[in-house]
Amino acid sequence: MNAHRELTKSDCSNAAGQASCRILAQAGLRITRHRRMVYDLLRESDQPISTEALFLVMKKDDSQISLSTVYRILEAFLEKNLIERVGSSDEGKVLYAIVSQVHCHHLHCLSCHRITVVEGCPLGEYEGLIEKTTRFHVTGHKLELMGYCATCMQDTRHPDEEDS
Ligand SMILES: [Zn+2]
Ligand SMILES: [Zn+2]
Repeated sequence: MNAHRELTKSDCSNAAGQASCRILAQAGLRITRHRRMVYDLLRESDQPISTEALFLVMKKDDSQISLSTVYRILEAFLEKNLIERVGSSDEGKVLYAIVSQVHCHHLHCLSCHRITVVEGCPLGEYEGLIEKTTRFHVTGHKLELMGYCATCMQDTRHPDEEDS
């Protein structure tokens, strides 16, 4: 029941729903209930989500939905650059997140698989250098840093201590 309320709260008639409807329309996508659900779930999650996890949540709301529908929606979103692939879960599943309006990078913890977003970028100069040396016109980049988050690093030393 909770999931149901969560999923249906944003339709085109409220502010949150209008935002996602506008974004889908701007991307040239036909607005369907399922597309809106996927977009809203990704937008409201603070962590990237796998196709399977999206499917399981959506299935609670609509038992008719199939995994391949979710796949197709994600493919369409990827094509329109609305979402991006970010890291992978501990089972090796690809995770998806909304493409941030602000240029940012992701820190992927290899232990707990949490993704931390960091704004700011040191690569502008490097891009300039690449353009100069290779004459390759750079239009963007993706950068994901892998390692261990502060909590996991602390846990290996002090298992009882909570991250503050
Ligand atoms: Zn961690
Ligand atoms: Zn960057």
